[in-house]
Amino acid sequence: MQTAISVEKIREDFPILKRKVRNNKQLVYLDNAATAQKPIQVINAISDFYTNHNSNIHRAVHALAEEATEAYEVTRDKVAQFLNIKDRREIIFVRGTTEAINLVAYTWGRQNVKQGDIIVTTEYEHHSNIVPWQLLTQEKGAKLEYIGVNDDGELLLDQLETYLATGKVKLVAISQMSNVLGTITDMAEVMRMCKKAEVKVLVDGAQSVPHMKVDLQQIGCDFFAFSAHKMLGPTGVGVLWVRKELLEQMTPFHGGGDMIREVHKYETTWNDLPYKFEAGTPNIADVIGFSAALDYLSNLGMDFVRNHEIEITKYALEKMSTIKGLKIYGTKDISKRGGVISFNFADIHPHDLATIIDEEGVAIRSGHHCAQVLMERLDVAATSRASFYIYNTKEEVDVLIKSLEKAARLFKL
Ligand code: PLP
Repeated sequence: MQTAISVEKIREDFPILKRKVRNNKQLVYLDNAATAQKPIQVINAISDFYTNHNSNIHRAVHALAEEATEAYEVTRDKVAQFLNIKDRREIIFVRGTTEAINLVAYTWGRQNVKQGDIIVTTEYEHHSNIVPWQLLTQEKGAKLEYIGVNDDGELLLDQLETYLATGKVKLVAISQMSNVLGTITDMAEVMRMCKKAEVKVLVDGAQSVPHMKVDLQQIGCDFFAFSAHKMLGPTGVGVLWVRKELLEQMTPFHGGGDMIREVHKYETTWNDLPYKFEAGTPNIADVIGFSAALDYLSNLGMDFVRNHEIEITKYALEKMSTIKGLKIYGTKDISKRGGVISFNFADIHPHDLATIIDEEGVAIRSGHHCAQVLMERLDVAATSRASFYIYNTKEEVDVLIKSLEKAARLFKL
């Protein structure tokens, strides 16, 4: 039987959470959808790499090179285990979700999308799952279409059915969890429709992988992207997973060292997978730091992570819904949303609200959250956003509520 996990104990692993910020107030970090804080285990792993093992990888035969290569490659195995991926050669280390999606657009997209084809995305995508497809469809004379969002922040999936029925859809690019509304996409339904229509699916897992159990074999998609920094890992590391049959057909993204087998004056042959897609010296230290983040989350268990966030989010939604004039976006059904709450408070500008809240030590996000298409749909220029993770507590939610009440007093609401 697993012993109960203590959030207080988790917090001890995160040195930054002890910080005092403005007015010597205790930091309350509620900007986890932007990036998560790092446990000491991750910080130590990076420091240990530079202190004891620093070397380039995949080349030299000396001891340090072997140690560095081994540690880097072990991370790939851990990613495979974390997401239930069968073949480690399908895992490509990139800089983050943005680079992963661009890689697919520039390689598979350029090879496969033609004039008149359709790429379908959604109104709640991050810009990184919109702009690469705009660039591609504009270059190819193809069309970009959007699945709409209803007033509860859920996708209107019947629109997907309509697009698929045209027979022109080449790819559906969709996030598994919205970074603004927190909505969890019904991937089983999306996959059922796309499989029937024999259409490829790319999933943006930037917000889902850090917060819930994700099984790639179960989802059955073709491309999957996420970032390490939102799941306790360092910035500058992400993963692109691609089904091997597709990866084998895809042309390289970047040319350079490590991605080649032989280079002659006028021709080159490619290295085996996944190295064909990892040109140049990669972000070795941070990939090794990511390994420690995967260990940390695996030790907690993703069921704990999800359940803890449900508890905190439910508590926050209850408290926030009692504040007059506060509009919360997204579904009230906690089983369909992650630990993200976007809101607007009367006519206080989100930046002003975030500044007042920051005076109390509470870090939230304000702005368009790299989701301007969604802002247009919601008919707002911006929202405020509180987002939670494994180390947040109900007491911290209470501090947020108090700071919102202070804003109400200041604005005489
Ligand atoms: N997709 C979603 C849903 C996100 O929330 C983010 C980051 O906020 C991204 C993509 C982009 O991730 P990155 O900036 O790490 O490339």
